[in-house]
Order: sequence, then C-alpha cells, then structure tokens
Amino acid sequence: MLIANTNGQVDSIAALSRESYRDIALYSVPRDYVALDLSDNTNLWGAPPAAMRAIAAAREESISRYPVAYEPALADALARYVGVSAEMIACGCGSDDVLDSAIRAFAQPGEVLCLPDPSFSMIPVFARTNGLVPVAIPLTDSHDVDVEAIVATGARIIYLCTPNNPTGGALSRATVEQIVERAPGLVIIDQAYVEFGGDNFVDLASNGRPVLVTRTMSKAFGLAGLRVGYGVGAPELITEVLKARGPYKVSSLAERAAVATLKKERAWVKDGVSEVVANRSRLRVELKMRGVDSLESAANFVLVPISDCVALATRLERVGVRVRALPQLRGIGDAIRVAVGPWEIMQRFLDALEEAS
Ligand code: PMP
Repeated sequence: MLIANTNGQVDSIAALSRESYRDIALYSVPRDYVALDLSDNTNLWGAPPAAMRAIAAAREESISRYPVAYEPALADALARYVGVSAEMIACGCGSDDVLDSAIRAFAQPGEVLCLPDPSFSMIPVFARTNGLVPVAIPLTDSHDVDVEAIVATGARIIYLCTPNNPTGGALSRATVEQIVERAPGLVIIDQAYVEFGGDNFVDLASNGRPVLVTRTMSKAFGLAGLRVGYGVGAPELITEVLKARGPYKVSSLAERAAVATLKKERAWVKDGVSEVVANRSRLRVELKMRGVDSLESAANFVLVPISDCVALATRLERVGVRVRALPQLRGIGDAIRVAVGPWEIMQRFLDALEEAS
C-alpha cells in the first residue's frame, strides 16, 4: 500500500518500491581479494589470447559510438559454432540476460515457472522480478528431474539445467525429450556448462518447438568479465526474446572479443575443456582418498556434500581459497562447490582443505 502525504506524494522510497520486489535481497557475492577464487566456475586458465588482442586493437569508435543493436556479427559467429542459422541466435549481456528476457517474453505476471531444486539460484529471482511464481520440484534420489511432478505443475515456463548447477549432473535425452513433448508452454534448457559434458540439446530448439537452449561464453570460453551469453531457438521465438531484451545489450568490445575467440581460439577452448575433464576425475579421486565423497559432475565444478559448509568455507578463505558454500541444499544438505582448473590450483585447494579441516 502506498502511503501518501498531504500533497499526495509518496513519503518513502520503501513505500514506492514495487511490492513484489521488497523481500528480494540484492544478489551479493564477496568482492574482497582472495588468492584463489574457485567460487564462480569461471575459466581458471584465464582469457583467450585472441580476445585480449581484439580489445587492445579496438578502434576509438568501439567506445565512443553505440554498438550495433542486436550484434549480427556475434550471432553469425555463434551460429557457426553451434551449427544453426544466425536468426536462431539471441545474444545477451551474459546468459542471465537471455534467461531473464525469455521469462519476460513468454509468461504473464502471475503465471508459474517450474524449476528443479536444487538448480541455478538466479532462476527463482528472475521469475519473481518478472512477476512469475517460481515452483521448485525436488530432484529425485538419484539427482534426476521428476518428469511427472514437473509436467503436473502445468507451468507456462519449465526451466531445466544440464549439466546442472550446483549438482553437476547431466540429464538424459529421454528425460528432456519427455518434458519437451509434454510441456504446455516454453521449455528453457540452460546449457551454460555443455562444453564440459552431458548431451547437447540444441537440436530440440531447432525443430520449431517452443524450446530455448541458453549457453554462455563465461565458462569454457573464458570471457565472464565481458558478459556474453546467448540463446538458441526457432527464429520467431528468438525475435520475442530480443524484443524483451532490447537493443545495445552487448558492448562493442565484448562483441569484438567474442567473435575473435570464436574464430581463432577453438583449440584453446578445447584444450581447456580436456584438462577440466581430466582434473575433475582426478580431484574426485583425491577427495575420495581423503575420505570425502563428491557428486559425479559433467560441469567444470564438483559439488562436495560436507557438514558445516559455511564454517569450512570461512576457514578455507582464511588460508586463501574461496569456494561456494551451499547450506541446506534440498536432498543433499550442506555442500561446497569447487571450480575445476589447472592441477596446481587443485592441489592448492586440496592442501588448503587439509589445513582447514
Ligand atoms: N546458467 C547457469 C546454470 C549458471 O551457473 C550461470 C552462471 N553461474 C549462468 C547461467 C549465467 O552465466 P552468464 O550470465 O555469465 O552467461
């Protein structure tokens, strides 16, 4: 309810703020320096050299002028990488932007967005900031999605994440296909970590169905700071996403660097992914040798169920290593999520874990 003073003006900013936003907390992550940050699943080998060169060589107009409204050069380069046509690509300021825009484009306020739990923590926030009601369906005991319960929600938007953040699990093709076949509305398949494992579901977005596959250049491509993500879907669906997104959301520098990376650094990306895959298994084995179980992962991180995760993360941070503490995950309990990178970094994490335990 708005409280007006005698001049008919609203008295406080709190009273003016949108009611459904008031109890949403500002997304907060630690910003202070830490020697080794394994908390955000970014590329621990750094940035691709061609991206650095593209930014260093940028012309003044890339900064003084607006970018091209909907990034056709980037859409084209991404389309070649993914194996679809450019009108099937919507770029965004990170895949966050594409997810947010798609939610806004395809559901009315008050409608339901259904997602598995646990899954990507921003999705309930994007649902709520767009006026939707998030309905979380627990993963099954084997950490799979519960197809019947998801379909039964009749949700306007079904969100799936494979490989899933934070569990690292990948969905089977049969599961995803069943949901796509039975969904009453849009199915979003978030594949931010697809380069590291699991099935690629772009084909499901290519046959005219209401399916949007979202992907990112923040992980395998090492461009998280530039904020480049994209969605793949039928051209009519992509137009709706871009309408909801609006123009000029990817900066000229980001577009230049992303295009250079897609054209010149496929081998750099592939080598990084191979090392992640090898080090992910090795990390799980090393943890097991220390009596610590972890979940099988198809992503560039490993989820380690461990009690008192917040206290452990604080102790790890004191010895220079940041991991993501995830208290009370549904069906899992306390856990830490650890990004996988070069082995010397993983060894530092293992040493720190010993020191902090
Ligand atoms: N989806 C998932 C599952 C993620 O884990 C993340 C980032 N942590 C994103 C989407 C968003 O990534 P970005 O906006 O950097 O593309």
